[in-house]
Amino acid sequence: MVEDLEKESDMSINSKLKIAIDGPAGSGKSTVAREVARQLNIVYLDTGAMYRAITLKLLRAHCDLSDHSQVEALLEQTVLQLASDERIFLDGEDVTAEIRKPQVNAAVSRVAELPVVRRKLVRQQQEIAAAAGGIVMEGRDIASTVMPDAPFKFYLDATLPVRARRRMQEQREKGLPLSYEKVFHEIKERDRIDSERADSPLTVTPGVQVIDTTSLTIAEVVERILQEINPQTD
Ligand code: C5P
Repeated sequence: MVEDLEKESDMSINSKLKIAIDGPAGSGKSTVAREVARQLNIVYLDTGAMYRAITLKLLRAHCDLSDHSQVEALLEQTVLQLASDERIFLDGEDVTAEIRKPQVNAAVSRVAELPVVRRKLVRQQQEIAAAAGGIVMEGRDIASTVMPDAPFKFYLDATLPVRARRRMQEQREKGLPLSYEKVFHEIKERDRIDSERADSPLTVTPGVQVIDTTSLTIAEVVERILQEINPQTD
């Protein structure tokens, strides 16, 4: 696998910033992370997109997830490329839209719990972080596993009904109308698998600042994060 995430590196102190943002689906972490990265002019990496792209590959290959050697063989032949405009390429094909589809939503947590998948993607994410300098990386295990030494670590959360409503709204805006009930049950099930898996589960690790976004706007969450970081970016 290779990656192609580029950001013009500015030589300011921001180019050394490492910011980890974890949280469950619909916690607002993607929108917040993207905006924090934009304001600080550093790289933004959505690690969920990488798990989604691998899931798409395994779905297309009709891979039996219990057959770890088949999974491993497919991973070895996989090239993931991430562009700075957030497009993601799977073996050269732009799959940015396809990885958000319901069949990927339904399967991704089962793929993400496979240690062989996690090992590969965590390594790739760590390489991207090392090459990027300043980066805002969001996912489920960024503070615990991918960037445990990041000086700034946040865990965004919100109640399940609020997260389901946000996710439903997002899907509708992308032309994928799904019922509230369907979205609610899908993210509840994903949360369960993500939190219960043995390998780097979704959890709040020590040293992480928890932000409950239930009644906050995106701008308020961004502001809170930037306030934490500001002393170092003056
Ligand atoms: O962030 P998003 O909802 O797109 O992530 C999709 C799935 O990818 C999550 O539900 C989780 O199973 C997996 N994931 C993960 N570790 C990460 C990011 C995502 O296991 N760092």
